[in-house]
Amino acid sequence: MTRKSVKDYIRTIVDFPHEGIMFRDVTTLFADPRGFRMTIDQMLHPFAGEEIDKVVGLEARGFIIGGAIAHQLTLGFVPIRKKGKLPGATLSQAYQLEYGEAVMEIHDDAIQPGERVLVVDDLLATGGTAAAGIRLIERLGGEIVGCSFIIDLPELGGRKVLEDMGMDVHVLCE
Ligand code: 5GP
Repeated sequence: MTRKSVKDYIRTIVDFPHEGIMFRDVTTLFADPRGFRMTIDQMLHPFAGEEIDKVVGLEARGFIIGGAIAHQLTLGFVPIRKKGKLPGATLSQAYQLEYGEAVMEIHDDAIQPGERVLVVDDLLATGGTAAAGIRLIERLGGEIVGCSFIIDLPELGGRKVLEDMGMDVHVLCE
């Protein structure tokens, strides 16, 4: 018997949220106890033994992963959210979408200068979301230990964008 890998638990939804998009749905991975445990363990694996102070998750599925990783490492969790969702004083970072622009925000006291941060999200596409998150952390003086994702869509080039920023990028599947 061959056991299922992380990739085997991910479902593809055709034409969501728009026609022509193949959406990689990780809810089926998170809903499975073994799938979810494997995901958290494998996302952390390359950073074992590293000094990490905080886990940052990108809205929204990065919150599910980041909460579990922070709990596993007994660390604090910090959310980076879309504009207008965080209640306190924030720093904002705009980034380009295919059509237009989006803005990510972080609480301006969420990371202290010199803190070592692990960044997590479910999927890396163009890298725009993660790059904006990384800039926010760096603007607060945080040092990024690495970035961990479940899925990379290599044809969209996000990994190269983050590596060109000097990031250590870890992905579980393409
Ligand atoms: P990027 O900014 O790298 O182009 O897009 C990545 C962001 O969009 C991530 O926050 C990710 O959650 C979301 N995203 C884009 N496409 C998909 C998809 O097919 N599946 C999932 N689960 N998330 C996606």
